[in-house]
Amino acid sequence: MSTGKVIKAFGNLLDVEFEGDIRQGEVAFVKLSKVDLKAEVLEIKGRIARIQVFENTNGVSEGDTVHFAGDLLEVELAPGLLSGIYDGLQNPLQKIAEKEGLFLARGKYFAPIDRNKKWDFTPTGQIGGVLARGDGFGFVLEGRFKHAIMIPFSFWDEYKLLWLAPVGSYTVDTIVAKVTDSQGVEHSLSMVQKWPIKMPLMEGEKVKVKEMMSTGLRTIDTQFPIMKGGTFCTPGPFGAGKTVLQHHLSKYASVDIVVFTACGERAGEVVEVLREFPHLTDPDTGGMLIDRTVIICNTSSMPVAARESSIYMGITIAEYYRQMGLNILLLADSTSRWAQALREMSGRLEEIPGDEAFPAYLSSRIAEFYERAGVISLKSGKSGSLTICGAVSPAGGNFEEPVTQATLAVVGAFLGLSRERSDARRYPAVDPIISWSKYIDLVGEQLAKQEGRWREMVRRGSYFLKTGKDIAKRMEVLGEEGIALEDMVTYLKAELYDFAYLQQNAFDKEDAYCPLKRQIPLFRLVNRIFDAAFAFDSHDAARQYFLSLQNRLKNMNFVAFDSKEYESTFKEIEKQLEVAELEKAGTSA
Ligand code: ADP
Ligand code: MG
Repeated sequence: MSTGKVIKAFGNLLDVEFEGDIRQGEVAFVKLSKVDLKAEVLEIKGRIARIQVFENTNGVSEGDTVHFAGDLLEVELAPGLLSGIYDGLQNPLQKIAEKEGLFLARGKYFAPIDRNKKWDFTPTGQIGGVLARGDGFGFVLEGRFKHAIMIPFSFWDEYKLLWLAPVGSYTVDTIVAKVTDSQGVEHSLSMVQKWPIKMPLMEGEKVKVKEMMSTGLRTIDTQFPIMKGGTFCTPGPFGAGKTVLQHHLSKYASVDIVVFTACGERAGEVVEVLREFPHLTDPDTGGMLIDRTVIICNTSSMPVAARESSIYMGITIAEYYRQMGLNILLLADSTSRWAQALREMSGRLEEIPGDEAFPAYLSSRIAEFYERAGVISLKSGKSGSLTICGAVSPAGGNFEEPVTQATLAVVGAFLGLSRERSDARRYPAVDPIISWSKYIDLVGEQLAKQEGRWREMVRRGSYFLKTGKDIAKRMEVLGEEGIALEDMVTYLKAELYDFAYLQQNAFDKEDAYCPLKRQIPLFRLVNRIFDAAFAFDSHDAARQYFLSLQNRLKNMNFVAFDSKEYESTFKEIEKQLEVAELEKAGTSA
């Protein structure tokens, strides 16, 4: 182990003169009289290392001893991560809360994984068989998931399986397999492995996204859809609903596991997550939502370096579960906090600043982060996916700033929240005029069996939104009577689409979650309204008609899907449309 002495301290950065070999990214500990402070090597120049301490550095002074650990900043991967709530250094916050209150004393680190809990292990490997990194040789049941016990990802050789533990109940540290490498050296494997968080964890081949990730939000699933393994971002001004949206996704997205990295905007927000999340039920299984969730929490009061690492901690855990053939969603709220951490660190390192003082490598860091998403096909024939959603919180909601722009350049879908919509309480405040998704065609193909015209219907939707908006602008100038009746009807159709379909109340029991089986027939109905050529005598008559129709449609959203009431209203509206369609046929004859 290499050691050194502090020669200069400035904020969380220390210059350390060292002996021996160290490398960039290596973990170090500053030895104070009562505590050790964890740090990371940022830069090495000759015999001087610049290290960044993850905690408050009060009391650190010249001459203090530093030990270099030899390892990079790593995450511990093992059964028991699910339902865990960690900080950016993988300290388990629940356990700390039980012992010490919600905030951890300086220099205390807790084991991230429960060492005493026993897991029922089932061996699956063939003795004598040859295995490589990521190959499973057994599993334990972690809740409803088969948690694969795999050859560690840091094992780059080929390994012959010598011995496997029999079916039994073991702690994570128990040796459950023995293998020999190509040199004949024996290795004993437990259920725990480690991986450096800044390095993508992946074994297998990246393949094209192929399956939709439904969310129960009509705006997303219909108009701006997401694919499993895809990427999207949700930028928006403060208070527009980014966090509500992310919480919604964590509950309703059609994935197996959600990793939620909360890099807190407001201090109280993270505490709310910690209090509320463990009590939410899973709408899919009726079980506890936390059982399929890992939460990484950092408040903005934590040192910047810990904030920066939390996003990598989260994504590495997500990648690990993807290797088991599961579908994972990583939510990051918000990536702007992470970018600010980068900016602060870069500033202290006196690097040459780029746009708005962000480091010049900001866009490459953001690109590298989203590149960790994707579908991989595994040797077992299964595939796993990792979908990434990043909230972005640009100051003043100005999307021209560097973080939003760098994100826009790399994601597959952009769900922009606007102040205009949230002020008008049009929730979710995803602005349909500025938002886009590159996955519309793929989703159209996938839904073709249920609705062959899906893609065209979605295009109709965008057409009405855009044209409706243009007409609304003209109406502001010319007044309602100043525009053609035909245009007025187009505008009213667009309004109906927005009001009764795209808008959704996150806090209503029925409306919060609209599954595809409910969305598809409803959107078909909306499309019949798009297509119908109504014959109206006046602007006023058109307005009256649409107001009543859109209210009836809207009210259906608050009624249970499988109820008589829903069915009968749906049929009545269909009848009403038939009449309109007949009238149209009559007038044109
Ligand atoms: P942000 O994270 O963008 O700063 P929040 O997600 O915290 O904003 O939302 C702020 C407030 O807006 C919420 O507390 C809630 O009152 C309201 N809100 C946001 N989204 C919705 C929604 N989908 N339905 C109803 N109210 C919402
Ligand atoms: Mg927020």
